[in-house]
Amino acid sequence: MNDPHPPAAFPAAPQPVPSVTAVAPYKGGDSALPGFADPIKLASNENPLGVSPAARAAVAEAAARLNRYPDPAAVSLREALGRLHGVDPDRIVCSAGSDEITQMIVRAFIAPGDEIIQSRYGFSIYRVFAQVAGAVVRLAEETNLTADVDAILSLVGPRTRVVFLANPNNPTGTYISAAEVRRLHAGLPSDVLLVLDGAYAEYVEADDYSAGVELATEAGNVLVVRTFSKAYGLAALRLGWAYGSPALIQTFNTVREPFNVSALAQAAGVAALGDQDFIAASVAHNRKERARLSRGLADLGLEVVPTAGNFVLAGFPDRPGATAPEADAWLRAAGIIVRRVDSYGLDNYLRISVGTASECDAVLGALSGFLDHRGAGA
Ligand code: PMP
Repeated sequence: MNDPHPPAAFPAAPQPVPSVTAVAPYKGGDSALPGFADPIKLASNENPLGVSPAARAAVAEAAARLNRYPDPAAVSLREALGRLHGVDPDRIVCSAGSDEITQMIVRAFIAPGDEIIQSRYGFSIYRVFAQVAGAVVRLAEETNLTADVDAILSLVGPRTRVVFLANPNNPTGTYISAAEVRRLHAGLPSDVLLVLDGAYAEYVEADDYSAGVELATEAGNVLVVRTFSKAYGLAALRLGWAYGSPALIQTFNTVREPFNVSALAQAAGVAALGDQDFIAASVAHNRKERARLSRGLADLGLEVVPTAGNFVLAGFPDRPGATAPEADAWLRAAGIIVRRVDSYGLDNYLRISVGTASECDAVLGALSGFLDHRGAGA
């Protein structure tokens, strides 16, 4: 019955809706490099120290019950988050990675033709998912590769539904102060949702920064989004969460898949939250190596964007032979994967995650060789 040699073309092939066809899928950092069994991976802002041993033990323990569905309400995890962050667990929703929160937001709040606003170099998942839902994306210009509150506010119109702000932002690493976030919020109509994505919040040590929990406690149109993929080192398990008003959380509980967070992820999350020593060690490591990596890149003559996260955005010379794509090829030949950011329009930059000390040495050594070879200062 089945034709083993179907014709090459399928005239009646299923067609996605036009908003889907128009979008290129999000491309994450590569994790494999042909010819290298164990490449140095500095492309996805993962935790180079690994994960809390308590979280790993919790996963092994939870693996004894793989036949059982997870708790659909993630009660223990939300209670642990509530305790750590001093918030009401009923105002939290958990997710399969924080990317899933973006999907929930879009599903719940975007109809075709609605608008979202984000910064020109803001994290691109927001616009990918919003475009899939048929949204019009407005990109606010930045100042010094940093979100500009006035530029964002100038784009607000009658169809604006959501403003997305990654703070600190990926891929730039820059952040805006709590006062600026409040000014942004004060300028938004109360029916526009302000999403504050604090994926890298654990790493920020500036006194004027806040991930926005206080604002989300007071306001009905602010959602704080967080992840376990970065400082908590649980990227493989896919675990994120959001904090907002009871009405927002109820909305997300309606649109989300009932068993969206696996039992392994819930168990690991609870254990990881209980091991704040691991977070402190991760933050201390990042502070030291981020400074060393930034200094090393600057000493090589590269433009180093000030970063509050666990990665550094480095700008390359505008000189044939010494550009970011060429540096990327050189690094790959040396077994090192960093992140091209040309999809953001940052063609002559590379984003480099803060790795172990030896990984940072390796990338600095390779780039030094690259720039020597390509005639630095020429
Ligand atoms: N937000 C930002 C700003 C990020 O950089 C990332 C990871 N690249 C995410 C959200 C998504 O992280 P996850 O889905 O792993 O929680």
